[in-house]
Amino acid sequence: MPEFDYDLFTIGAGSGGVRASRVAAAHGAKVAVAEEYRVGGTCVIRGCVPKKMLVYGAHFAEDLEDAKQFGWDIPQSTFDWVRLRDHVLADVDRLNGLYTNTLENHHVEIFHERATLVGPHEIRLASGKTVTAKYILIATGARPHVPEFEGCEHGITSNEAFHLDALPMRVLIAGAGYIANEFAGIFHQFGSEVTIINRSDQLLRGYDHSLRDRLLQISVTKGIRFQFNSTFEKIEKQADGTLLVHTTGSSPAEYDCVMFATGRVPNIEGLGLEAAGVELNETGAIRVDDQSKTNVDHIYAVGDVTDRVQLTPVAIREGQAFADTVFGNKPTTVSYDCIPSAVFSHPPLAGVGMTESEARNKLGSIKVYESDFRPMKNVVAGRNERSLYKMICEAETGRIVGLHMIAPEAAEVMQAAAIAVKAGLTKDDFDATVALHPTMAEELVLMR
Ligand code: NDP
Repeated sequence: MPEFDYDLFTIGAGSGGVRASRVAAAHGAKVAVAEEYRVGGTCVIRGCVPKKMLVYGAHFAEDLEDAKQFGWDIPQSTFDWVRLRDHVLADVDRLNGLYTNTLENHHVEIFHERATLVGPHEIRLASGKTVTAKYILIATGARPHVPEFEGCEHGITSNEAFHLDALPMRVLIAGAGYIANEFAGIFHQFGSEVTIINRSDQLLRGYDHSLRDRLLQISVTKGIRFQFNSTFEKIEKQADGTLLVHTTGSSPAEYDCVMFATGRVPNIEGLGLEAAGVELNETGAIRVDDQSKTNVDHIYAVGDVTDRVQLTPVAIREGQAFADTVFGNKPTTVSYDCIPSAVFSHPPLAGVGMTESEARNKLGSIKVYESDFRPMKNVVAGRNERSLYKMICEAETGRIVGLHMIAPEAAEVMQAAAIAVKAGLTKDDFDATVALHPTMAEELVLMR
């Protein structure tokens, strides 16, 4: 009789958990995974993927408007939220099925229920069954943080945004980070009146200041309102269902929807971490070492529950590295250096490496190159929206230490350019490459 029921029991079938389970199984481990909601996790079910579909849908608003200058006469266009929502949700169902198939094809047993640690190697399932595993992986992700104040329960988060019955005409979005700016663009393009409220006067902290300034300027020009240095006092739900929102420094205002996009917190509650002796770090996330191991030798954690970098591809890498290390006899660590990221705002922005101020603080002597241009399509369309590429180099060597863009397709361009930055290429290397004309991306090799 084997000592344990499974070699690996994974709690949470999101990006990190699915990758780890599948790869561990491919390495020959007997694996089970518990998921209380849907296989796929935040990214696939209620995050990156359906969000990107909404971003595509939203962009048609500008494309249809711009089409006139390109010779197209388009009869009065209308937008049907329910049709888009249902197409998106249907595709989420399809992906949920694909992720489930992936696990099943690798003979990973799936328990569609909540799992709790009840001992170092014991896991109790909601159905009452208790199983044992030699290794346990916690990959339970994170959930939206909602600030507590009177009436906060009347607001929604991005989780609910994908299921709205109707498009709200007036939306107040709390927070000025990734989700706030992405949904501000989405709702605005669909025709909603959008206001962003944030406790500080900065949006997208962590991104280069030039990009943030540009996004703010473009967003304001488009008609998105910003209420900075302001916090909620209360939300009152009125008889007609509208929300009367009281905030500091502003008169009460009516909205049809308040959406919180104020960060995400690790899902650690009710997991039985104490029973297994797993420790948290000072931010309330599971503490892990560089191989994703917790303080308990056979318990690991990957993804947002560890709050290292809250990005899907990072969770996937952590899951892969864990499985290769523990079951593949190939000790692997994840490099957190030069992780490219993007915000799918309208227009999108993307960055890799250090911002200008980070580089100045860290390296002292740097050179900054910029290209501030109006994309050809915007010129023809009569759209007065400029793009910005910015390159930060170490002064002495010319090595590129940061690259930042706000422009159409910035994320697509960034993925390719990030390879060069990660590889340590210099400005001269970029300049030695012949421009591919006419593109926006050619600005990468023409920067001054
Ligand atoms: P972010 O961390 O990006 O932004 C949070 C915002 O909420 C900030 O403006 C912050 O203000 C504010 N805030 C934080 N805590 C509070 C609080 N207690 N009360 C009031 N305001 C608060 O979080 P998001 O929720 O937008 O996204 C969560 C994470 O998900 C992101 O960090 C990102 O890693 C990931 N994500 C990635 C996407 C992508 O890759 N495109 C898309 C969506 C999410 P301040 O600046 O003052 O701190």
